Amino acid sequence: TEKLKGKTVVITAAAQGIGRASALAFAAAGAKVVATDINEKVMAELEGTPGLVTRRLDVLDDAAVKAAFAEIGRVDVLFNCAGFVHGGTILEMKDEEFDFAVDLNVRAMVRTIRAVLPGMLECGDGAIINMSSVASSQKGVPNRFVYGLTKAAVIGLTKAVAADYVARGIRCNAICPGTVESPSLEGRMRAQGDYEKARAAFIARQPMGRLGTAEEIADLAVHLAGATYTTGQAYNIDGGWSV
Ligand code: NAD
Repeated sequence: TEKLKGKTVVITAAAQGIGRASALAFAAAGAKVVATDINEKVMAELEGTPGLVTRRLDVLDDAAVKAAFAEIGRVDVLFNCAGFVHGGTILEMKDEEFDFAVDLNVRAMVRTIRAVLPGMLECGDGAIINMSSVASSQKGVPNRFVYGLTKAAVIGLTKAVAADYVARGIRCNAICPGTVESPSLEGRMRAQGDYEKARAAFIARQPMGRLGTAEEIADLAVHLAGATYTTGQAYNIDGGWSV
């Protein structure tokens, strides 16, 4: 879309999965993409893509986030994609898992948004897209206690930011995918022992009878970056899981 021509888009967790597909989709839409991740080795595969540069960024590191955004300068679109899926119930959860999930899935977004907002407000224009999940306030999912808790917080922070800055040109929306084919999903299926059984169970959650692709989620991210009359919304994209 021409809407994104020349726009600077920063994406976190862009080495693989949805972040990677989004980096490629934004670049194909004419944006100037800064793809960031901690996995420089995998992210290197993106190098050479027209309109895209890669940059190491650990979103758990406050100083690194501040430094990165100071260096990048004007940002038109921020896509907060970094997140981690812990399995387990409230009784099974370890305290360290709680702290890590809150830090990576929620606080990292607070860090990046704080770093990027002043510049967006100066320009009176900016779009922020936060990665939530259907497993959040959209839907209770078994064995996803701390994940669902943190992804619900993402929707809350998205709405709060949207409400505070709606009159100043800033839009902030959340994406809530169902089950999407990605390296970490593959890992979760393998970790269950019987891979085929685990895969069938993940597929069975979607009435559409298949997993989503990272490209399908990336499409929605590109759309929201240019969707100038929507803010504060949580968009389910889940093959009908939440219907
Ligand atoms: P993934 O989990 O396979 O990859 C995650 C990426 O995050 C990796 O490249 C990793 O290096 C990076 N990362 C981890 N810690 C980081 C840090 N501190 N700083 C920067 N980068 C870091 O990718 P995915 O499955 O597409 O998930 C991406 C996002 O989408 C996550 O927030 C996830 O919760 C969300 N999501 C995924 C699904 C799914 O089914 N795959 C469904 C709903 C939501």
